[in-house]
Amino acid sequence: MAWRTRFAPAPTGYLHLGHVVNAIHVWGLARAFGGDVLLRIEDHDRTRCRVAFEDALLDDLDWLGFVPDIGSTDSFRASRAVGGTPHPQRQSDNEGRYAAALAALSDRALTYVCTCTRRDIAQQAPHAPGEEPRYPGTCRAARHDAAASLARRACIADGDIAFHDGRLGPIRQSPAEQCGDVLVRDRHGQWTYQFAVVVDDMAHAIDVVIRGEDLLPSTGRQLQLAQLLDREQPLRWWHHPLLVHPDGRKLSKANRDTSIRERRAAGAHAAGLLGEAAFLSGLLPAARDLTIDELPALFR
Ligand code: GLU
Repeated sequence: MAWRTRFAPAPTGYLHLGHVVNAIHVWGLARAFGGDVLLRIEDHDRTRCRVAFEDALLDDLDWLGFVPDIGSTDSFRASRAVGGTPHPQRQSDNEGRYAAALAALSDRALTYVCTCTRRDIAQQAPHAPGEEPRYPGTCRAARHDAAASLARRACIADGDIAFHDGRLGPIRQSPAEQCGDVLVRDRHGQWTYQFAVVVDDMAHAIDVVIRGEDLLPSTGRQLQLAQLLDREQPLRWWHHPLLVHPDGRKLSKANRDTSIRERRAAGAHAAGLLGEAAFLSGLLPAARDLTIDELPALFR
């Protein structure tokens, strides 16, 4: 049976070159080494996600030529159409899955109610700008009543966690030091990225996570959450380089020059954008047109 990876964009904006870099790695590695690609729409954050962005990203994926093996772009469109049914790979359609996972942890006393605001945490555990705040565990001992807040944290055990990254080799992280107990649901009742992604990678039987290096700091805590949820299926990791501008600047979602929508409107071709993304992430020595069929050769 083929191993399974996923492409999991959040519809908080238009697809940009950074997504294309990720898609090149996901589809390229899958096609080179016998994997299947599952498409997941990560719209757990109701305040930032928009249906219009989901529509646009499905359309841009089709235009670029990235065809998922599990969860076609049409299956996502059909689920939104009149008479459509919830899609198993759209997070906002599967809130019950996260609720069940939270209940399983809570039954074993692995979660607690947290009433701390961001400001409380900043005061309790000062951190430098740009540094990740570490939750000091204030509410773990407080045993607040369930009604005190919708926010829940999962208890993260002390100590290091080791894993192997397919590109970077052995990695050790200490989530208890980095971030402390992980927020699972916020005070508005929204599921967090860290929790939803772990629950979904289990539910979708993902074998290999292929994503940008910017998410590497999250990997240890996600592994710990998966262990708390009794994940048995082994999970492997491949963190790829991010897009770097030729002058050395990192390109971010805010860089307007990277939006696929605008590049399309300006007359760009899919092969041109694929080649540019591959070059800017170090997969090609120079920018040139690159087709989907050529992706596996970049990794073999
Ligand atoms: N949804 C995340 C993003 O768009 C990716 C999740 C992941 O690969 O773990 O950045």
